[in-house]
Amino acid sequence: MNDCIFCKIIQGKVSSEFVYESDTVVAFNDVNPIAPVHVLIIPKKHIESMNDIDTDNNMVIADMFAVAVEIAKQKSIDNDGYKLLIRTGKNGGQEVPHIHLHLIGGALLHEDIHPVI
Ligand code: AMP
Ligand code: ZN
Repeated sequence: MNDCIFCKIIQGKVSSEFVYESDTVVAFNDVNPIAPVHVLIIPKKHIESMNDIDTDNNMVIADMFAVAVEIAKQKSIDNDGYKLLIRTGKNGGQEVPHIHLHLIGGALLHEDIHPVI
């Protein structure tokens, strides 16, 4: 999809700090972090939202979660804990229409501290 900002990041047309890349998935730091660790993990293939996941492509979701856990371990936030979040659609607060898994950690993230997430 030509207009997708995350597809442009994958293609190197928009600069970003990659923290991980595999055949199926790319991860990079969120440009507007809400915690000390805030990484987005996305499929290389353009998939708009969770509503477009089916039995043919659902393995990429498993890849994204596995990569998130690996990055959490690399960044040593696994023991203290973190949040994994996928917003979906308007009411879910999804702003970028290319599935992305937020890995958010490195600080205490109780709901009363960060009600937005
Ligand atoms: P969501 O609200 O779940 O769709 O989250 C979109 C996220 O993408 C937000 O946290 C933004 O800060 C982030 N974002 C938007 N554009 C970029 C970009 N060019 N590079 C890195 N993160 C971005
Ligand atoms: Zn895209």
